[in-house]
Amino acid sequence: MSEYAVIVIDMLNDFVTGNLKCERAQNIIPNIKKLIEAARKYNVTVIYSNDAHYPQDHEVVEKWGSHAIKGTKGAEVIPELKPTTKDYIVEKRTYSGFYETGLDPLLRSLGVKTVILTGLHTNMCVRHTAADAFFRGYKIIVAKDGVEAFTQEDQDSGLKYLEYVYNAKLELTSNIIKEFSK
Ligand code: ZN
Repeated sequence: MSEYAVIVIDMLNDFVTGNLKCERAQNIIPNIKKLIEAARKYNVTVIYSNDAHYPQDHEVVEKWGSHAIKGTKGAEVIPELKPTTKDYIVEKRTYSGFYETGLDPLLRSLGVKTVILTGLHTNMCVRHTAADAFFRGYKIIVAKDGVEAFTQEDQDSGLKYLEYVYNAKLELTSNIIKEFSK
């Protein structure tokens, strides 16, 4: 079993083309696609960490408005990155993929030591997922061409923060794929 797991964060219709659309998400779709296809080929686990909100969630009501409501089209993974039956989907109700979800026990049961983070947004859900991964002793790789934010400034400062605070290795997806094949 591989010590790696690729985590695809919030690549959902609402974040890419819907209510909370991020134009820059288009930049990373082909890279994430290549990465998850390689992961499946080399038996590296692929886990989708997806917002699946209740309409009354604090984050929906107080902060962002309606997005990724559980059971709606907006909460589905974008068609380009559709999960296969081999992949795992772990729903979350706020920024971190670990917060009150089954992600940690799932990673442990798979023997994962290093999480490879991709998706949206570098300075929000990726950052909070990295924080919780760090607290739990996982090594962190961030696909620097596989994460995005609303602005270039958020992207640059977000990546810098991940590297500085959580010791994340910032790596191109092509290099991560090379690592899988070793
Ligand atoms: Zn949300």
